[in-house]
Amino acid sequence: MRIANLQGRFVIVKDDRAIDVERASDGRFGSDPQAIFEAWDDFRTWADGADLSGGEAFDREQLGPPAPQPRQIYAIGLNYLDHAAESGVEVGEPVVFTKYLTSITGPYAEVEFPAGDVKVDWEVELVVVIGRRAHRVSESDAWSHVAGLTVGQDISERVLQMVGSVPQFSLGKSYPGFGPTGPWIVTPDELADRDDLPIGCSVNGVSKQEATTKLLMRSVGKLVERLSAVTPLLPGDLIFTGTPAGVGLARNPPEFLSPGDVIDSYITGIGEIRTTIVAAR
Ligand code: ZN
Repeated sequence: MRIANLQGRFVIVKDDRAIDVERASDGRFGSDPQAIFEAWDDFRTWADGADLSGGEAFDREQLGPPAPQPRQIYAIGLNYLDHAAESGVEVGEPVVFTKYLTSITGPYAEVEFPAGDVKVDWEVELVVVIGRRAHRVSESDAWSHVAGLTVGQDISERVLQMVGSVPQFSLGKSYPGFGPTGPWIVTPDELADRDDLPIGCSVNGVSKQEATTKLLMRSVGKLVERLSAVTPLLPGDLIFTGTPAGVGLARNPPEFLSPGDVIDSYITGIGEIRTTIVAAR
């Protein structure tokens, strides 16, 4: 199943049609795309037996972030071996940081270029959406706590990220719109292999990152186990799982984004998002 946020309303996407869940369920479930995760098990049970033959065609550019108001956003650094290598970093304990809530935006967002002397970079990432509270969950039980997967960009301002004696990952990756997500959430049962999804992105049509999530050093299951050992993961929370090799900072010479640039990001089996960098208004 694919679920999305269409102009602020929670919908199921089926065959390019959007089915409004509040209407289709006669009000049993509300229209809030974030609140649904509190009722995730009930919703899945209902959806399995519901008549989803209706719905309406829609404009993809009207899709918003599929989980627009998560209470917690986790992000993982250096989770692909080739990206750790290009960053000159030794692999050990996963680097965990947050992207603040106001960085979250939708699948066709215009993202404002920050003022000042900045270096803005791309990072395509698989994003996990939690569907059931997870505290001290083992790797083997992790997927039963996952609502689904979506495509994300962990846009990063490298100057602020690296300033100071220890990195400022959270702040440098949290300018408004630096967390595009979408176009929808795909439930894991839709995927032939939920742990092996081709992932990549291009900038202005030129491929920059190409990998598969099979190369994650800590799989989705391991990340849920590690994070939930410390903090309970709440329904609707996001986990940005890390980016593969090919970021601009690691290129020779380094490359960074400018206003007017367009980032196309994909995960095969989930979908594509398009992010446009625009000049500060
Ligand atoms: Zn990242």
